[in-house]
Amino acid sequence: EILANQIAAGEVIERPASVVKELIENAIDAGSTQIDILIEEAGLRKIQIIDNGVGIDSDEVLNAFKRHATSKIYSRDDLFRIRTLGFRGEALPSIASVSEITLETSTGSQQGTFVKLKGGQVIEERPNQARKGTTLTVENLFFNTPARLKYVKTLQTELANVTDIVNRMALSHPQIAFRLVHDGNQLTRTAGNGDLKQTLAGIYGVSTAKKMRKIEKEDLDFKISGYISLPEITRASRNYISIIINGRYIKNYLLNKAIIAGYRSKLMVGRFPIAVIEIDIDPLLIDVNVHPTKQEVRISKEKELMELIEAAINECLSGEQL
Ligand code: ADP
Ligand code: MG
Repeated sequence: EILANQIAAGEVIERPASVVKELIENAIDAGSTQIDILIEEAGLRKIQIIDNGVGIDSDEVLNAFKRHATSKIYSRDDLFRIRTLGFRGEALPSIASVSEITLETSTGSQQGTFVKLKGGQVIEERPNQARKGTTLTVENLFFNTPARLKYVKTLQTELANVTDIVNRMALSHPQIAFRLVHDGNQLTRTAGNGDLKQTLAGIYGVSTAKKMRKIEKEDLDFKISGYISLPEITRASRNYISIIINGRYIKNYLLNKAIIAGYRSKLMVGRFPIAVIEIDIDPLLIDVNVHPTKQEVRISKEKELMELIEAAINECLSGEQL
């Protein structure tokens, strides 16, 4: 069982940022409105995620660390209309198998629970006075998988990856207040009032957010909205382009290309926009069950969507003085 979990961890948990992503997704699925992410040494020493979601019942806590124990899928059909972010029941057992993990949780109605695992084995479990919500602390990631530790890059790169994923989660959930603190320094803080532009301000700064323009366009299959930076604000990589489908941050090469194409006439070679593109699609037109990290999706009518995105960006920037 622990070995199986370590193998699963090899697929899903590559670096501190993967842990952060999975734990934030769980916090979101739990209905949190505030999620604090406190990390030390780019997450290699410590990752702590504090949420104010529904919490976990004491008699369910140990279950959450069992493989394929998910509270989120009730029937096979659910796989085709996935609304929650997590659904494989793999994240907690995988992370637990390669770290020291502490879970403090309470549903608010009864006594809370404290449980600590090391390398996947429970080493402490007791009732706990706790506020409603969940605090998960992951320490010494990959302490028992030295091969994995070798693939971890510099602290700077790992921190950039963590920041990147937190920012994208914040952008895809403007109604949740996110805070990212690294070694005591606050890196990101979003308002959580539902406003995407204010979320952009919390991440990229107020003056940059002011230089972003609203995108809005729809056809029968897709509804597109979001923001894109004016050509005076550019970045040297495409990392600042975020695509969100039905509230889920995804990676998609072709859609990225469409965004850049829509921007291209106004763009210097080698420069890229800051952009957040939200796309609403009938869930039946997408397949998220492609890869364990759930970041890649297959989209039906992709070509139509690309054209719509390109046109939306063209329209949005055509009225601007350049
Ligand atoms: P999945 O998210 O795919 O269901 P996970 O391994 O990530 O699987 O989590 C296992 C279960 O633990 C979840 O289904 C959920 O019931 C519970 N859980 C995990 N994190 C939280 C949290 N922050 N708040 C409430 N419940 C949680
Ligand atoms: Mg999960």
